[in-house]
Amino acid sequence: MIIRFWGVRGSLPSPSGFSELKEKIAMAVELALRERPAPDDVERFVETLPDRITGFVGGNTPCLEISSSTRTLIFDAGSGIRSLGAHLTPKPELDIEEELRGNGKAQAKPRPARKGPKRHLDLLFTHTHWDHIQGFPFFAPVYDKDTSITIHAVNTRAVEDGLRSQQSTPLLFPIHFDELPAEIRFRTITEEGLTLGPFFIDTMRLPHPGGSTAYRIRAFGRTIVFATDYELLGDSPEVNRIREDLKAFIQSADVFISDTQYTYLESHSKEGWGHSNALNVVEMAQPAGVRRLYLFHHDPFNSDRKLYEMLEKASNYSELLFPGSALSIYLATEGTTVEFPETPDGSPPRRGARGAGPGRG
Ligand SMILES: [Zn+2]
Ligand SMILES: [Zn+2]
Repeated sequence: MIIRFWGVRGSLPSPSGFSELKEKIAMAVELALRERPAPDDVERFVETLPDRITGFVGGNTPCLEISSSTRTLIFDAGSGIRSLGAHLTPKPELDIEEELRGNGKAQAKPRPARKGPKRHLDLLFTHTHWDHIQGFPFFAPVYDKDTSITIHAVNTRAVEDGLRSQQSTPLLFPIHFDELPAEIRFRTITEEGLTLGPFFIDTMRLPHPGGSTAYRIRAFGRTIVFATDYELLGDSPEVNRIREDLKAFIQSADVFISDTQYTYLESHSKEGWGHSNALNVVEMAQPAGVRRLYLFHHDPFNSDRKLYEMLEKASNYSELLFPGSALSIYLATEGTTVEFPETPDGSPPRRGARGAGPGRG
């Protein structure tokens, strides 16, 4: 089972600019100048640099994949889903002959037919704010007639309205939702939750303008919670009740992916905007026995440097509150993957034991 982060930014896609690149080059040069003896193998030195210098946190809006060997779940269709679509679908080739005829009508060839039965994907939405649906028209599998997609949500009506509205032609997009070749159906998630292949999924409603849904996904003895776009400030009885519910929801989670858009101070000055800060999330995750916390839904105004500072503050706060605790805190970055073995209890397969093949779980 693998978790892949395809989009980690909140609110609006925000590509890294040249100033960010210059900052990273400066940090690398500074480290090189401090090194004693001076590095003589540049490539080897670059290999030793931390991710915060050699990579970018990423500017795409939310999209998370959780896949087993038999099933692919996708959470939200922010702009990150475009790269996931490319990953799932072979690239169409340009019709070179048409190009050479010079009539300016180079067309993408029909995608090569995939072998085997129709592909099925499950797409689950937390809510319909634009940063969570805007990538959908750019998701290659929706243009593949051999793909079926089930869209799951607590409020399917809102999701269907949102997806259709952003593909109203010709004003907002050239291809209408009804023209998409993939077979698309909607399924409402009830209070009982749902089972998709090896995954058992249940939900919790989160406080956010218009509401948002948290997902708890259990499979192979592991628990993953994805809770983005929520605000829990203050200690009113209502907020305390939801906080306790969320604590129970994330209890003993192996992975908790949480909205931490703001710093502690920002979240107070932006009360009512619907987002969390990492310190308050740590206060919940620690007593709930969460193992790994991923800071998610980064503010589009925050540079990588600021995000790593926020990570450091959250880690220090966690250590201060609960010295020596088992909680590890990470920044969700585009391309981050977390992998668990597909054994019934999530532990690595014993030597000589049968591996986790397709159809298991
Ligand atoms: Zn959002
Ligand atoms: Zn939102």
